[in-house]
Amino acid sequence: MYLKFLGGAREVGRSGVLFDTGKERILFDYGIKIVNSEGPIKEPQLPMKVNLNLDAILLSHAHLDHSGFVPNLYHRGYRGPLYTTATTLDLSRILLKDSIKIARIKNYPEHFNTKDMKEMEKNEFRITYGQYFHVGRLGVGVYDAGHIPGSVMFHVDAGDKKLVYSGDIKVNDTELLRGLEPIRENTDILMVESTYGERDHPPREDQEKKLAEVVKETLENEGIALLACFAVGRAQEVLLILKKFGLDKYPIYLDGMAIDATKIILKYPELIKHPKQLKKMYHKVTKIHKNKERDKIIKEPGIIVTTSGMLNGGPVVHYLEKLHDNENCSLVLTGFQVPGSAGRILLDTGKFVTEENEFKVNCKTHFIDLSAHAGREELLKYIKSVDPKKVLVMHGDQCEKFSQELKDMGYDSYAPKRGEKVEI
Ligand SMILES: [Zn+2]
Ligand SMILES: [Zn+2]
Repeated sequence: MYLKFLGGAREVGRSGVLFDTGKERILFDYGIKIVNSEGPIKEPQLPMKVNLNLDAILLSHAHLDHSGFVPNLYHRGYRGPLYTTATTLDLSRILLKDSIKIARIKNYPEHFNTKDMKEMEKNEFRITYGQYFHVGRLGVGVYDAGHIPGSVMFHVDAGDKKLVYSGDIKVNDTELLRGLEPIRENTDILMVESTYGERDHPPREDQEKKLAEVVKETLENEGIALLACFAVGRAQEVLLILKKFGLDKYPIYLDGMAIDATKIILKYPELIKHPKQLKKMYHKVTKIHKNKERDKIIKEPGIIVTTSGMLNGGPVVHYLEKLHDNENCSLVLTGFQVPGSAGRILLDTGKFVTEENEFKVNCKTHFIDLSAHAGREELLKYIKSVDPKKVLVMHGDQCEKFSQELKDMGYDSYAPKRGEKVEI
């Protein structure tokens, strides 16, 4: 039996792990890499090629670094099952379609099309938290990963060896989601993400309060609070925080892919923590679709929740073009800004710089940490609770360092390289 790391090994992006028992072959995730620590990559980087004689694909969640290359397998002729949650399927559909659109605009090579996505959908098997299913002789348990709506961890029982693939995880509760569900079964091998293996997040409560204060102050100064959010998870989280702090008495606008993402997330209310509140907020906010509407709403004070989270595109760019000189307005970045992204450049230089634009931003810019990833302490707590015989550290910029630290704490730990086979 072995695991082969096709991507997401000593890096963040293009996650993919093949598990081969000699009889069954399953693939955990198959994503692409759009950004790296040096900045945005011109065209997405791909996971290593895998032989199509797979028994199943197990998809942890919708983010493109996990789902972004799954349709390519169907493009190449794979016709086996894809196991994931209904939320993940619906969310990945909009993210994948967007990635096809971007590939066309930017002239990137096209590795799949909408026809391949249809093939993929024909082979979907919808699973949910707490479910147990079989792939050949393998028993697979499905656990809530707490990361974004629909995200799961897989526990695979291969007889002699039991293993866990964490995908991306969040241990503590957020406004939108419950933290991950602890793995109760015995585990020999734990493949764990380590995005924040080297640092902790600031206390969540403080960050929420800071967000509420910035928004309130801006509106009291007759300004517009522009909240740049990732469409999936973050926009909904921010809507709930606005409600929690009574800011829903002000006009709130929702714009960009966040609208469809919220709609999908509300289709499966049992997976989120406060479905009623989110539903109320969704109906209350004004949905914005056109530049004409955008130009109209910025004439009055209000709160705009919009994509993209790193300012690399989406309606937020239009708003910034119009509002950047207005000192009464504020721009809040609510997610991690990868080096090289327009958001990171703005935080570092005070300037908005893209291929099409370059201007100084005079409205106040803030960064709020509302991460959907476990911080270092959460990761350590999780690893301790799973109590595996061996830890395989992946999905991080400093996998080797974190793995060494785990070793120093007494764990048998290793950070596999991309392309490496690990016998188990
Ligand atoms: Zn993720
Ligand atoms: Zn990820």
